[in-house]
Amino acid sequence: MLIKPKSVLIVGGGTAGWMTANSLLNVWPDVKISLVESEDIGVIGVGEGATPYLKQYFKQLGIAEKDWMPECDATYKLGISFEGWSGSHLAKSYFHPFFSVLDKPVAEMFFHNCGLRRRGIEAPVAPDEYFVAAQLTNQKVDPTACLKHSLDIDYAYHFDSVKLGIYLRNRAVKLGLTHVIDNVQDVKLDKNGDIVDVSTQQHGCLTADHFIDCTGFSSRLINKALKRESRSYSDTLFNNAAVAIQTQYTNESSIKPQTRSIALNAGWMWNIPLTTRQGNGYVYSDGHISSDQAETELRQALNIQDDANVKVRHLNMRIGRLNEHWHKNCLAVGLSQGFIEPLEATALMLTQLTIDQFVQSFASQETDLITAQNSYNQKLNQVFDGIHDYIVAHYQLTKRQDTDYWRDNKYNLVKPKILSEILYAWDNGLDVEKVLSRHKNNLVYLRPSWYCILAGMGRFPQNLKHSTQVADVEQARKYCKDVTNKYFLS
Ligand SMILES: Cc1cc2nc3c(=O)[nH]c(=O)nc-3n(C[C@H](O)[C@H](O)[C@H](O)COP(=O)(O)OP(=O)(O)OC[C@H]3O[C@@H](n4cnc5c(N)ncnc54)[C@H](O)[C@@H]3O)c2cc1C
Repeated sequence: MLIKPKSVLIVGGGTAGWMTANSLLNVWPDVKISLVESEDIGVIGVGEGATPYLKQYFKQLGIAEKDWMPECDATYKLGISFEGWSGSHLAKSYFHPFFSVLDKPVAEMFFHNCGLRRRGIEAPVAPDEYFVAAQLTNQKVDPTACLKHSLDIDYAYHFDSVKLGIYLRNRAVKLGLTHVIDNVQDVKLDKNGDIVDVSTQQHGCLTADHFIDCTGFSSRLINKALKRESRSYSDTLFNNAAVAIQTQYTNESSIKPQTRSIALNAGWMWNIPLTTRQGNGYVYSDGHISSDQAETELRQALNIQDDANVKVRHLNMRIGRLNEHWHKNCLAVGLSQGFIEPLEATALMLTQLTIDQFVQSFASQETDLITAQNSYNQKLNQVFDGIHDYIVAHYQLTKRQDTDYWRDNKYNLVKPKILSEILYAWDNGLDVEKVLSRHKNNLVYLRPSWYCILAGMGRFPQNLKHSTQVADVEQARKYCKDVTNKYFLS
Protein backbone atom coordinates (compact mmCIF):
# COMPACT_ATOMS: atom_id res chain seq x y z
CA MET A 1 0.00 0.00 0.00
CA LEU A 2 1.10 3.58 -0.59
CA ILE A 3 2.04 5.51 2.54
CA LYS A 4 -0.54 8.10 3.41
CA PRO A 5 0.79 11.67 3.87
CA LYS A 6 1.07 12.94 7.46
CA SER A 7 0.14 16.46 6.45
CA VAL A 8 -1.76 17.97 3.53
CA LEU A 9 -1.90 21.63 2.46
CA ILE A 10 -4.82 22.64 0.26
CA VAL A 11 -4.17 25.84 -1.69
CA GLY A 12 -7.46 27.55 -2.60
CA GLY A 13 -10.77 28.02 -0.79
CA GLY A 14 -13.39 27.76 -3.53
CA THR A 15 -16.00 24.98 -3.55
CA ALA A 16 -13.29 22.53 -4.66
CA GLY A 17 -10.94 23.45 -1.81
CA TRP A 18 -13.60 23.20 0.87
CA MET A 19 -15.10 19.99 -0.51
CA THR A 20 -11.62 18.47 -0.53
CA ALA A 21 -10.97 19.66 3.04
CA ASN A 22 -14.19 18.12 4.37
CA SER A 23 -13.60 14.83 2.55
CA LEU A 24 -10.05 14.48 3.83
CA LEU A 25 -11.02 15.39 7.39
CA ASN A 26 -13.65 12.67 7.17
CA VAL A 27 -11.52 9.83 5.78
CA TRP A 28 -8.12 10.77 7.21
CA PRO A 29 -8.86 12.10 10.72
CA ASP A 30 -5.26 11.42 11.78
CA VAL A 31 -3.74 13.60 9.00
CA LYS A 32 -3.02 17.30 9.60
CA ILE A 33 -5.10 19.19 7.03
CA SER A 34 -4.49 22.91 6.37
CA LEU A 35 -5.93 25.28 3.77
CA VAL A 36 -4.59 28.59 2.55
CA GLU A 37 -6.75 30.90 0.46
CA SER A 38 -6.43 34.41 -0.89
CA GLU A 39 -9.01 37.01 0.06
CA ASP A 40 -7.64 39.29 -2.67
CA ILE A 41 -8.30 36.82 -5.47
CA GLY A 42 -11.59 35.43 -4.11
CA VAL A 43 -13.62 32.56 -5.56
CA ILE A 44 -15.25 32.17 -8.97
CA GLY A 45 -18.70 32.37 -7.37
CA VAL A 46 -20.68 30.50 -10.02
CA GLY A 47 -21.51 26.81 -10.24
CA GLU A 48 -24.88 26.42 -8.65
CA GLY A 49 -26.18 23.19 -10.14
CA ALA A 50 -25.13 19.63 -9.39
CA THR A 51 -25.67 15.99 -10.29
CA PRO A 52 -27.00 13.30 -7.93
CA TYR A 53 -23.40 12.56 -7.00
CA LEU A 54 -23.52 15.50 -4.61
CA LYS A 55 -26.25 13.76 -2.62
CA GLN A 56 -23.75 10.97 -1.97
CA TYR A 57 -21.15 13.51 -0.88
CA PHE A 58 -23.34 14.88 1.91
CA LYS A 59 -24.38 11.35 2.83
CA GLN A 60 -20.74 10.22 3.14
CA LEU A 61 -20.02 13.16 5.44
CA GLY A 62 -23.18 12.60 7.48
CA ILE A 63 -24.52 16.08 6.69
CA ALA A 64 -28.33 16.19 6.71
CA GLU A 65 -30.23 18.20 4.09
CA LYS A 66 -32.06 20.09 6.83
CA ASP A 67 -28.67 21.36 8.06
CA TRP A 68 -26.98 22.52 4.87
CA MET A 69 -29.81 23.26 2.42
CA PRO A 70 -31.41 26.23 4.24
CA GLU A 71 -27.95 27.77 4.83
CA CYS A 72 -27.18 27.64 1.11
CA ASP A 73 -30.63 28.66 -0.25
CA ALA A 74 -30.69 25.21 -1.85
CA THR A 75 -33.49 23.63 -3.86
CA TYR A 76 -33.96 20.18 -5.36
CA LYS A 77 -33.08 19.40 -8.95
CA LEU A 78 -34.62 16.52 -10.89
CA GLY A 79 -33.06 17.15 -14.27
CA ILE A 80 -32.39 19.70 -16.99
CA SER A 81 -34.87 21.13 -19.44
CA PHE A 82 -33.24 21.82 -22.83
CA GLU A 83 -35.18 24.57 -24.55
CA GLY A 84 -34.76 25.81 -28.10
CA TRP A 85 -32.04 23.28 -28.91
CA SER A 86 -34.01 20.98 -31.14
CA GLY A 87 -34.92 23.26 -34.03
CA SER A 88 -38.29 24.65 -35.03
CA HIS A 89 -39.95 21.53 -36.44
CA LEU A 90 -39.59 19.62 -33.18
CA ALA A 91 -40.82 19.93 -29.64
CA LYS A 92 -39.59 23.22 -28.17
CA SER A 93 -37.88 21.47 -25.29
CA TYR A 94 -36.91 18.11 -23.93
CA PHE A 95 -36.07 16.99 -20.43
CA HIS A 96 -32.92 15.12 -19.40
CA PRO A 97 -34.03 13.54 -16.13
CA PHE A 98 -32.13 11.96 -13.27
CA PHE A 99 -33.14 8.34 -13.51
CA SER A 100 -34.57 6.11 -10.79
CA VAL A 101 -35.65 2.51 -10.25
CA LEU A 102 -39.22 3.63 -10.84
CA ASP A 103 -38.39 4.30 -14.50
CA LYS A 104 -37.70 0.71 -15.50
CA PRO A 105 -41.03 -0.27 -17.11
CA VAL A 106 -41.59 3.02 -18.95
CA ALA A 107 -37.96 3.37 -20.00
CA GLU A 108 -38.33 0.09 -21.91
CA MET A 109 -41.36 1.53 -23.74
CA PHE A 110 -39.28 4.59 -24.61
CA PHE A 111 -36.38 2.51 -25.95
CA HIS A 112 -38.84 0.38 -27.94
CA ASN A 113 -40.55 3.40 -29.52
CA CYS A 114 -37.19 5.00 -30.31
CA GLY A 115 -36.21 1.75 -32.05
CA LEU A 116 -39.36 1.95 -34.21
CA ARG A 117 -38.84 5.61 -34.98
CA ARG A 118 -35.25 4.94 -36.06
CA ARG A 119 -36.74 2.55 -38.63
CA GLY A 120 -39.06 5.28 -39.89
CA ILE A 121 -42.17 4.14 -38.04
CA GLU A 122 -44.40 6.79 -36.47
CA ALA A 123 -44.09 6.51 -32.67
CA PRO A 124 -44.15 9.01 -29.77
CA VAL A 125 -40.55 9.57 -28.59
CA ALA A 126 -40.54 12.70 -26.39
CA PRO A 127 -38.36 11.65 -23.41
CA ASP A 128 -40.51 13.75 -21.06
CA GLU A 129 -43.37 11.25 -21.33
CA TYR A 130 -41.43 8.25 -20.13
CA PHE A 131 -39.50 9.20 -17.00
CA VAL A 132 -40.93 9.73 -13.55
CA ALA A 133 -38.59 12.65 -12.79
CA ALA A 134 -40.22 14.62 -15.61
CA GLN A 135 -43.63 14.08 -14.04
CA LEU A 136 -42.32 15.02 -10.57
CA THR A 137 -40.79 18.17 -12.06
CA ASN A 138 -43.99 19.22 -13.81
CA GLN A 139 -45.97 18.71 -10.63
CA LYS A 140 -43.21 20.41 -8.55
CA VAL A 141 -43.10 17.44 -6.21
CA ASP A 142 -40.65 17.09 -3.31
CA PRO A 143 -38.48 14.09 -4.32
CA THR A 144 -37.89 13.11 -0.69
CA ALA A 145 -41.62 12.51 -0.17
CA CYS A 146 -41.13 8.88 -1.22
CA LEU A 147 -38.88 8.18 1.78
CA LYS A 148 -41.98 7.37 3.80
CA HIS A 149 -42.51 4.45 1.40
CA SER A 150 -38.92 3.31 2.07
CA LEU A 151 -37.96 4.46 -1.41
CA ASP A 152 -35.00 6.73 -2.07
CA ILE A 153 -34.59 8.14 -5.59
CA ASP A 154 -31.70 9.97 -7.22
CA TYR A 155 -31.92 13.73 -7.35
CA ALA A 156 -29.53 16.67 -7.11
CA TYR A 157 -29.54 20.25 -5.85
CA HIS A 158 -29.21 23.89 -6.81
CA PHE A 159 -27.41 26.06 -4.25
CA ASP A 160 -25.63 29.34 -3.70
CA SER A 161 -22.02 28.34 -4.34
CA VAL A 162 -20.52 31.06 -2.16
CA LYS A 163 -22.76 30.05 0.75
CA LEU A 164 -21.91 26.39 0.23
CA GLY A 165 -18.20 27.30 0.43
CA ILE A 166 -18.81 29.17 3.69
CA TYR A 167 -20.85 26.30 5.14
CA LEU A 168 -18.13 23.77 4.33
CA ARG A 169 -15.39 26.13 5.56
CA ASN A 170 -17.06 26.61 8.95
CA ARG A 171 -17.55 22.87 9.28
CA ALA A 172 -13.94 22.08 8.39
CA VAL A 173 -12.56 24.68 10.81
CA LYS A 174 -14.77 23.25 13.57
CA LEU A 175 -13.31 19.80 12.82
CA GLY A 176 -9.77 21.10 13.38
CA LEU A 177 -8.54 22.29 9.97
CA THR A 178 -5.86 24.99 10.08
CA HIS A 179 -7.11 27.92 8.01
CA VAL A 180 -4.71 30.53 6.66
CA ILE A 181 -5.75 33.61 4.70
CA ASP A 182 -2.86 34.74 2.53
CA ASN A 183 -1.57 34.93 -1.03
CA VAL A 184 0.69 32.17 -2.26
CA GLN A 185 3.49 33.89 -4.12
CA ASP A 186 5.91 31.13 -4.93
CA VAL A 187 6.18 27.35 -4.97
CA LYS A 188 9.51 25.71 -4.09
CA LEU A 189 10.45 22.35 -5.60
CA ASP A 190 13.20 19.96 -4.51
CA LYS A 191 15.60 18.34 -6.97
CA ASN A 192 13.13 15.48 -7.62
CA GLY A 193 10.43 17.92 -8.59
CA ASP A 194 8.34 17.47 -5.43
CA ILE A 195 6.88 20.55 -3.77
CA VAL A 196 8.76 21.48 -0.59
CA ASP A 197 6.70 24.49 0.44
CA VAL A 198 4.66 27.42 -0.78
CA SER A 199 5.69 30.91 0.26
CA THR A 200 3.04 33.38 1.33
CA GLN A 201 2.98 37.16 1.76
CA GLN A 202 2.40 37.23 5.51
CA HIS A 203 2.76 33.70 6.89
CA GLY A 204 6.14 32.75 5.46
CA CYS A 205 6.62 29.29 3.95
CA LEU A 206 3.87 26.72 4.46
CA THR A 207 5.03 23.15 4.21
CA ALA A 208 3.33 19.73 4.02
CA ASP A 209 3.94 16.17 2.79
CA HIS A 210 1.28 16.58 0.15
CA PHE A 211 -0.19 19.61 -1.65
CA ILE A 212 -3.59 20.00 -3.26
CA ASP A 213 -3.99 22.60 -5.96
CA CYS A 214 -7.48 24.10 -5.69
CA THR A 215 -6.45 27.49 -7.10
CA GLY A 216 -9.11 27.51 -9.82
CA PHE A 217 -8.28 28.43 -13.41
CA SER A 218 -4.90 29.89 -12.35
CA SER A 219 -3.68 26.33 -11.63
CA ARG A 220 -0.88 27.86 -9.54
CA LEU A 221 0.79 24.64 -8.39
CA ILE A 222 0.18 21.92 -10.94
CA ASN A 223 0.44 24.03 -14.08
CA LYS A 224 2.58 27.04 -13.21
CA ALA A 225 5.03 25.33 -10.82
CA LEU A 226 4.96 21.67 -11.89
CA LYS A 227 4.40 22.54 -15.56
CA ARG A 228 1.87 19.78 -16.19
CA GLU A 229 0.30 20.04 -19.62
CA SER A 230 -3.35 20.09 -20.58
CA ARG A 231 -5.47 18.70 -23.35
CA SER A 232 -7.59 21.53 -24.69
CA TYR A 233 -11.14 20.77 -25.85
CA SER A 234 -11.25 23.89 -28.03
CA ASP A 235 -11.40 21.85 -31.26
CA THR A 236 -14.61 20.17 -30.12
CA LEU A 237 -16.27 22.83 -27.94
CA PHE A 238 -16.43 26.53 -28.91
CA ASN A 239 -17.77 28.05 -25.70
CA ASN A 240 -15.06 29.77 -23.67
CA ALA A 241 -16.74 32.66 -21.86
CA ALA A 242 -19.77 33.40 -19.73
CA VAL A 243 -21.71 36.32 -18.34
CA ALA A 244 -23.78 35.87 -15.17
CA ILE A 245 -26.63 37.91 -13.67
CA GLN A 246 -28.69 37.08 -10.60
CA THR A 247 -32.40 37.97 -10.60
CA GLN A 248 -35.22 38.08 -8.08
CA TYR A 249 -38.40 36.09 -8.54
CA THR A 250 -41.40 37.69 -10.11
CA ASN A 251 -43.57 34.58 -9.94
CA GLU A 252 -42.16 31.98 -7.58
CA SER A 253 -45.05 29.58 -8.08
CA SER A 254 -43.95 28.88 -11.66
CA ILE A 255 -40.54 27.56 -10.55
CA LYS A 256 -39.91 23.88 -11.10
CA PRO A 257 -37.17 21.67 -9.58
CA GLN A 258 -35.08 21.79 -12.74
CA THR A 259 -32.24 23.71 -14.35
CA ARG A 260 -33.27 25.35 -17.60
CA SER A 261 -30.77 25.40 -20.46
CA ILE A 262 -32.02 27.72 -23.16
CA ALA A 263 -30.23 27.94 -26.52
CA LEU A 264 -29.37 31.51 -27.56
CA ASN A 265 -27.59 32.99 -30.62
CA ALA A 266 -24.02 32.00 -29.72
CA GLY A 267 -24.39 29.56 -26.86
CA TRP A 268 -26.94 28.85 -24.18
CA MET A 269 -28.31 30.35 -21.02
CA TRP A 270 -28.75 28.69 -17.67
CA ASN A 271 -31.54 29.45 -15.24
CA ILE A 272 -31.18 28.01 -11.77
CA PRO A 273 -33.87 28.44 -9.10
CA LEU A 274 -32.70 28.97 -5.51
CA THR A 275 -34.99 29.62 -2.55
CA THR A 276 -34.16 33.35 -2.48
CA ARG A 277 -33.22 34.26 -6.06
CA GLN A 278 -32.42 32.85 -9.48
CA GLY A 279 -28.98 32.34 -10.99
CA ASN A 280 -28.71 33.08 -14.72
CA GLY A 281 -25.85 33.09 -17.13
CA TYR A 282 -24.97 32.96 -20.81
CA VAL A 283 -22.23 30.53 -21.82
CA TYR A 284 -20.97 31.61 -25.23
CA SER A 285 -18.16 31.54 -27.73
CA ASP A 286 -16.14 34.77 -27.82
CA GLY A 287 -15.13 33.87 -31.36
CA HIS A 288 -18.75 34.47 -32.38
CA ILE A 289 -19.95 37.37 -30.22
CA SER A 290 -18.32 39.99 -27.99
CA SER A 291 -18.85 40.18 -24.23
CA ASP A 292 -21.02 43.28 -24.74
CA GLN A 293 -23.24 41.48 -27.24
CA ALA A 294 -23.51 38.52 -24.86
CA GLU A 295 -24.54 40.78 -22.00
CA THR A 296 -27.13 42.54 -24.15
CA GLU A 297 -28.60 39.24 -25.30
CA LEU A 298 -28.73 37.91 -21.74
CA ARG A 299 -30.39 41.10 -20.48
CA GLN A 300 -32.97 40.77 -23.25
CA ALA A 301 -33.64 37.13 -22.40
CA LEU A 302 -34.12 38.12 -18.76
CA ASN A 303 -36.15 41.22 -19.58
CA ILE A 304 -33.65 43.52 -17.85
CA GLN A 305 -33.34 47.07 -19.19
CA ASP A 306 -29.87 48.22 -20.30
CA ASP A 307 -29.79 50.89 -17.63
CA ALA A 308 -31.12 48.63 -14.84
CA ASN A 309 -28.71 48.41 -11.94
CA VAL A 310 -27.84 44.72 -11.73
CA LYS A 311 -24.55 43.07 -10.88
CA VAL A 312 -23.07 41.56 -14.04
CA ARG A 313 -20.09 39.19 -13.96
CA HIS A 314 -18.03 38.38 -17.05
CA LEU A 315 -15.92 35.22 -16.90
CA ASN A 316 -13.44 33.46 -19.13
CA MET A 317 -13.39 29.68 -19.13
CA ARG A 318 -10.42 27.44 -19.89
CA ILE A 319 -11.94 24.35 -21.50
CA GLY A 320 -9.87 21.20 -21.26
CA ARG A 321 -8.21 18.94 -18.73
CA LEU A 322 -4.77 18.14 -17.40
CA ASN A 323 -3.05 15.03 -18.66
CA GLU A 324 -1.76 14.38 -15.15
CA HIS A 325 -4.03 15.40 -12.29
CA TRP A 326 -1.74 13.77 -9.71
CA HIS A 327 1.96 14.39 -10.17
CA LYS A 328 4.77 14.08 -7.62
CA ASN A 329 3.30 15.19 -4.26
CA CYS A 330 0.61 17.38 -5.79
CA LEU A 331 -3.00 16.67 -6.73
CA ALA A 332 -5.13 19.15 -8.69
CA VAL A 333 -8.83 19.36 -7.79
CA GLY A 334 -11.53 21.56 -9.32
CA LEU A 335 -11.03 24.17 -12.02
CA SER A 336 -7.24 23.84 -11.63
CA GLN A 337 -7.45 20.34 -13.13
CA GLY A 338 -9.80 21.22 -15.95
CA PHE A 339 -13.28 22.25 -16.92
CA ILE A 340 -15.88 21.16 -19.43
CA GLU A 341 -18.53 23.78 -20.00
CA PRO A 342 -21.35 23.57 -17.43
CA LEU A 343 -24.10 22.28 -19.74
CA GLU A 344 -24.71 19.18 -17.60
CA ALA A 345 -23.35 20.71 -14.36
CA THR A 346 -20.69 18.05 -13.93
CA ALA A 347 -17.78 19.99 -12.36
CA LEU A 348 -18.48 19.17 -8.72
CA MET A 349 -19.05 15.54 -9.63
CA LEU A 350 -15.53 15.52 -11.10
CA THR A 351 -14.22 17.22 -7.97
CA GLN A 352 -15.73 14.49 -5.81
CA LEU A 353 -14.48 11.72 -8.02
CA THR A 354 -10.99 13.21 -8.02
CA ILE A 355 -10.86 13.19 -4.22
CA ASP A 356 -12.56 9.80 -3.76
CA GLN A 357 -10.26 8.03 -6.23
CA PHE A 358 -7.21 9.71 -4.70
CA VAL A 359 -8.11 8.43 -1.23
CA GLN A 360 -8.89 4.98 -2.65
CA SER A 361 -5.42 4.83 -4.23
CA PHE A 362 -3.98 4.74 -0.72
CA ALA A 363 -6.27 1.86 0.24
CA SER A 364 -5.37 -0.30 -2.79
CA GLN A 365 -2.68 -3.00 -2.89
CA GLU A 366 -0.48 -0.89 -5.20
CA THR A 367 2.86 -0.01 -3.62
CA ASP A 368 4.51 1.87 -6.46
CA LEU A 369 3.60 5.57 -6.55
CA ILE A 370 4.23 6.06 -10.27
CA THR A 371 2.08 3.05 -11.20
CA ALA A 372 -0.68 4.27 -8.90
CA GLN A 373 -0.52 7.76 -10.36
CA ASN A 374 -0.54 6.51 -13.95
CA SER A 375 -3.60 4.39 -13.41
CA TYR A 376 -5.31 7.20 -11.45
CA ASN A 377 -4.62 9.77 -14.17
CA GLN A 378 -5.82 7.44 -16.89
CA LYS A 379 -9.07 6.80 -15.03
CA LEU A 380 -9.74 10.50 -14.48
CA ASN A 381 -8.96 11.32 -18.10
CA GLN A 382 -11.46 8.68 -19.21
CA VAL A 383 -14.15 10.29 -17.07
CA PHE A 384 -13.34 13.81 -18.29
CA ASP A 385 -13.35 12.65 -21.92
CA GLY A 386 -16.54 10.63 -21.39
CA ILE A 387 -18.38 13.69 -20.10
CA HIS A 388 -16.85 15.76 -22.89
CA ASP A 389 -18.26 13.39 -25.53
CA TYR A 390 -21.78 13.71 -24.14
CA ILE A 391 -21.51 17.51 -23.99
CA VAL A 392 -20.25 17.66 -27.58
CA ALA A 393 -23.25 15.53 -28.61
CA HIS A 394 -25.56 18.48 -27.82
CA TYR A 395 -23.79 20.61 -30.43
CA GLN A 396 -23.56 17.85 -33.02
CA LEU A 397 -27.20 16.83 -32.67
CA THR A 398 -28.90 20.20 -32.60
CA LYS A 399 -30.90 21.06 -35.69
CA ARG A 400 -30.29 24.80 -35.19
CA GLN A 401 -28.56 26.51 -38.05
CA ASP A 402 -29.86 30.04 -37.67
CA THR A 403 -26.58 31.79 -36.74
CA ASP A 404 -22.90 31.37 -37.67
CA TYR A 405 -22.35 29.90 -34.23
CA TRP A 406 -24.83 27.06 -34.73
CA ARG A 407 -23.68 26.45 -38.31
CA ASP A 408 -20.06 26.33 -37.13
CA ASN A 409 -21.02 23.87 -34.43
CA LYS A 410 -22.71 21.67 -36.96
CA TYR A 411 -20.02 21.73 -39.64
CA ASN A 412 -16.72 23.00 -38.24
CA LEU A 413 -16.12 21.10 -35.05
CA VAL A 414 -14.02 17.97 -34.75
CA LYS A 415 -16.25 14.97 -34.05
CA PRO A 416 -15.05 12.77 -31.16
CA LYS A 417 -14.46 9.18 -32.26
CA ILE A 418 -16.78 7.37 -29.86
CA LEU A 419 -19.58 9.87 -30.45
CA SER A 420 -19.22 9.32 -34.20
CA GLU A 421 -19.54 5.57 -33.68
CA ILE A 422 -22.69 5.99 -31.58
CA LEU A 423 -24.26 8.28 -34.18
CA TYR A 424 -23.31 5.97 -37.02
CA ALA A 425 -24.94 3.00 -35.28
CA TRP A 426 -28.05 5.03 -34.42
CA ASP A 427 -28.49 6.39 -37.93
CA ASN A 428 -27.87 3.10 -39.72
CA GLY A 429 -30.11 0.77 -37.74
CA LEU A 430 -27.18 -0.93 -35.99
CA ASP A 431 -27.12 -2.16 -32.41
CA VAL A 432 -26.49 1.03 -30.37
CA GLU A 433 -26.39 -0.93 -27.10
CA LYS A 434 -23.48 -2.94 -28.46
CA VAL A 435 -21.53 0.25 -29.21
CA LEU A 436 -22.34 1.68 -25.77
CA SER A 437 -21.29 -1.55 -24.13
CA ARG A 438 -18.03 -1.74 -26.15
CA HIS A 439 -17.09 1.71 -24.88
CA LYS A 440 -18.48 1.36 -21.39
CA ASN A 441 -15.14 2.21 -19.73
CA ASN A 442 -14.98 5.48 -21.66
CA LEU A 443 -18.57 6.57 -21.28
CA VAL A 444 -19.99 8.37 -18.28
CA TYR A 445 -23.53 8.73 -19.62
CA LEU A 446 -25.45 5.52 -20.07
CA ARG A 447 -28.18 4.27 -22.39
CA PRO A 448 -31.11 6.34 -21.01
CA SER A 449 -29.13 9.59 -21.34
CA TRP A 450 -28.06 8.79 -24.90
CA TYR A 451 -31.61 7.91 -25.90
CA CYS A 452 -32.92 11.09 -24.26
CA ILE A 453 -30.55 13.36 -26.16
CA LEU A 454 -30.92 11.56 -29.48
CA ALA A 455 -34.71 11.51 -29.24
CA GLY A 456 -34.92 14.96 -27.64
CA MET A 457 -32.93 16.48 -30.50
CA GLY A 458 -35.02 14.57 -33.03
CA ARG A 459 -32.33 12.37 -34.60
CA PHE A 460 -34.77 10.31 -36.67
CA PRO A 461 -35.72 9.84 -40.31
CA GLN A 462 -38.32 12.35 -41.52
CA ASN A 463 -40.69 10.20 -43.60
CA LEU A 464 -42.70 8.00 -41.29
CA LYS A 465 -44.88 4.90 -41.76
CA HIS A 466 -47.59 3.71 -39.37
CA SER A 467 -47.34 0.46 -37.38
CA THR A 468 -49.26 -1.41 -34.71
CA GLN A 469 -46.11 -2.27 -32.73
CA VAL A 470 -45.94 1.15 -31.07
CA ALA A 471 -45.82 1.19 -27.25
CA ASP A 472 -48.75 3.17 -25.91
CA VAL A 473 -47.55 6.56 -24.67
CA GLU A 474 -50.87 7.00 -22.82
CA GLN A 475 -49.93 3.98 -20.74
CA ALA A 476 -46.51 5.57 -19.99
CA ARG A 477 -48.14 8.87 -19.00
CA LYS A 478 -50.60 7.05 -16.75
CA TYR A 479 -47.79 5.05 -15.13
CA CYS A 480 -45.74 8.20 -14.33
CA LYS A 481 -48.82 9.90 -12.84
CA ASP A 482 -49.75 6.80 -10.82
CA VAL A 483 -46.29 6.36 -9.23
CA THR A 484 -46.14 10.10 -8.48
CA ASN A 485 -49.48 9.84 -6.66
CA LYS A 486 -48.60 6.59 -4.93
CA TYR A 487 -45.07 7.35 -3.72
CA PHE A 488 -44.88 11.12 -3.52
CA LEU A 489 -48.33 12.56 -3.00
CA SER A 490 -50.01 10.03 -0.70
C1 LIG B 1 -19.76 29.94 -16.02
C2 LIG B 1 -19.56 28.77 -15.11
C3 LIG B 1 -20.67 28.03 -14.71
C4 LIG B 1 -20.49 26.92 -13.88
N1 LIG B 1 -21.58 26.16 -13.53
C5 LIG B 1 -21.39 25.03 -12.81
C6 LIG B 1 -22.49 24.20 -12.44
O1 LIG B 1 -23.64 24.48 -12.73
N2 LIG B 1 -22.22 23.09 -11.72
C7 LIG B 1 -20.96 22.74 -11.35
O2 LIG B 1 -20.76 21.69 -10.73
N3 LIG B 1 -19.93 23.55 -11.64
C8 LIG B 1 -20.10 24.65 -12.36
N4 LIG B 1 -19.03 25.45 -12.64
C9 LIG B 1 -17.73 25.11 -12.09
C10 LIG B 1 -17.69 25.55 -10.64
O3 LIG B 1 -17.87 26.95 -10.56
C11 LIG B 1 -16.36 25.17 -10.01
O4 LIG B 1 -16.08 23.83 -10.29
C12 LIG B 1 -16.41 25.33 -8.51
O5 LIG B 1 -16.86 26.59 -8.16
C13 LIG B 1 -15.05 25.09 -7.91
O6 LIG B 1 -14.17 26.10 -8.27
P1 LIG B 1 -12.71 26.05 -7.67
O7 LIG B 1 -12.80 25.92 -6.21
O8 LIG B 1 -11.91 25.05 -8.41
O9 LIG B 1 -12.11 27.47 -8.07
P2 LIG B 1 -12.36 28.94 -7.46
O10 LIG B 1 -13.73 29.13 -6.96
O11 LIG B 1 -11.85 29.87 -8.49
O12 LIG B 1 -11.39 28.98 -6.20
C14 LIG B 1 -10.02 29.16 -6.31
C15 LIG B 1 -9.45 29.47 -4.94
O13 LIG B 1 -8.04 29.53 -5.01
C16 LIG B 1 -7.60 30.73 -4.40
N5 LIG B 1 -6.33 31.11 -4.99
C17 LIG B 1 -6.01 31.24 -6.30
N6 LIG B 1 -4.72 31.61 -6.43
C18 LIG B 1 -4.22 31.72 -5.17
C19 LIG B 1 -2.97 32.09 -4.64
N7 LIG B 1 -1.94 32.43 -5.42
N8 LIG B 1 -2.83 32.11 -3.30
C20 LIG B 1 -3.84 31.77 -2.48
N9 LIG B 1 -5.05 31.40 -2.93
C21 LIG B 1 -5.24 31.38 -4.26
C22 LIG B 1 -8.73 31.71 -4.65
O14 LIG B 1 -8.68 32.80 -3.77
C23 LIG B 1 -9.93 30.79 -4.37
O15 LIG B 1 -10.12 30.67 -2.98
C24 LIG B 1 -19.20 26.57 -13.44
C25 LIG B 1 -18.10 27.35 -13.83
C26 LIG B 1 -18.26 28.42 -14.67
C27 LIG B 1 -17.06 29.21 -15.10
